[in-house]
Amino acid sequence: MIPLAEAQARIQRDIHPLPVVSVPIAEARGLVLAESVVAKEAIPPFANTAMDGFALRAADSAGASPETPISLPVVATIAAGSVASRPLIGGEVMRIMTGAPIPEGADSVIMVELTRPTSGHDDSTSSDVSSIELLAEVASGNHIRPAGDDVRAGVTVLSPGEVVTAAHLGVLASLGYESVLVHKRPRVGVFSTGDELISGPTPLQPGQIRDSNRPTLLALVEESGCIPVDLGWLPDNEEEIEAALVAAVGPDADNVCDALVTSGGVSMGDFDFVKKVLSRLGDLNWMQVAIKPAKPLAFGLLMGTPIFGLPGNPVSSMVSFELFARPSLLAMMGKRDTQRLTVLALAEEGFLRPPDGKIHFVRVVVDQEPDGSWLARSAGGQGSHQLTAMARANGLAVVPDGDGIRPGGMVKVLLLG
Ligand code: AMP
Ligand code: MG
Repeated sequence: MIPLAEAQARIQRDIHPLPVVSVPIAEARGLVLAESVVAKEAIPPFANTAMDGFALRAADSAGASPETPISLPVVATIAAGSVASRPLIGGEVMRIMTGAPIPEGADSVIMVELTRPTSGHDDSTSSDVSSIELLAEVASGNHIRPAGDDVRAGVTVLSPGEVVTAAHLGVLASLGYESVLVHKRPRVGVFSTGDELISGPTPLQPGQIRDSNRPTLLALVEESGCIPVDLGWLPDNEEEIEAALVAAVGPDADNVCDALVTSGGVSMGDFDFVKKVLSRLGDLNWMQVAIKPAKPLAFGLLMGTPIFGLPGNPVSSMVSFELFARPSLLAMMGKRDTQRLTVLALAEEGFLRPPDGKIHFVRVVVDQEPDGSWLARSAGGQGSHQLTAMARANGLAVVPDGDGIRPGGMVKVLLLG
């Protein structure tokens, strides 16, 4: 057996970010920027009002209060998207809506709540109000958002290595970008192997089970931000496995994959052909990793493409994906931070275990208390075939080798999702 960190390091050596491509911004979310984004123009592009109200010269409001209101004529209305037809002069106001450009000659905005219509109206925003009373003094610059207040033209706003989020898309759109340079989103093929597997509602024949790994692994691939490619099922047959692996990554592949994830066929059984094929064709690293579940792992490069040969037991394949495939796929996307968040949780019940040289990953439910602390309890049966506990779990408790963790002890938990 080799330590988990060593297995992860061996894989990491063979994993590199995918090439840089230009993608429409609508497809860029979750990808990693590969260019600096320099603002060609200022945001906002012109000084505008942060409030609905009236543009004025601040000096004209001197001394205004509810007891000593100052009455001024309303000479124009400026909506967002329009501009005043003439400059503002002293002793008048222009009605102005949030986002509209400040008219030349005005240096301030008074919000509508601090004004009142001079006569005949209850609402000074009404467009037929011809004059208003100021009920407060305002300072020069009041409620004005200057041009370039968010971004000055010429500055670098986004940098390579940043993961494109919803807010990044907004920044790119404000600057007029339609596409952006990012690391390619990996296409990841998923195979299941095993003569015992069928899919769908067909009644099970003796010895058969339904393929649960493929939908799960395809979903994990998608959750990682990659494009899942369903490559179906393969029997425990060396020739068929070889042909399918080569077809998925070879130069003649229709839809070439950037990585493959297989499940089953990597243990010590007589029919574990994924391991055999990879060791013959590829640059295989077959590992017995000192973890439970998910001890066997076959990792190799086939014609330069990483292949993750995960164990077949449903929980094992998920834990193996979590510890080996997911960080690698994120690194292929160019991400620097490939690790799950971890929290230190109080063990509500014991996570006891015998020493066996392995780190145990226990499926747990963690809850955060109002004071911010975390509590962990088992999500159910911990067998590597017991997928329902995995379905309930929102974390994997990391129980180091030894006697385990007593009730009330602290345990590190990887947060899933
Ligand atoms: P293997 O790694 O091929 O020896 O499989 C280990 C265990 O996982 C066996 O009990 C298999 O029947 C089961 N198994 C393998 N592949 C799948 C799958 N795709 N879905 C559900 N169970 C599987
Ligand atoms: Mg098998």
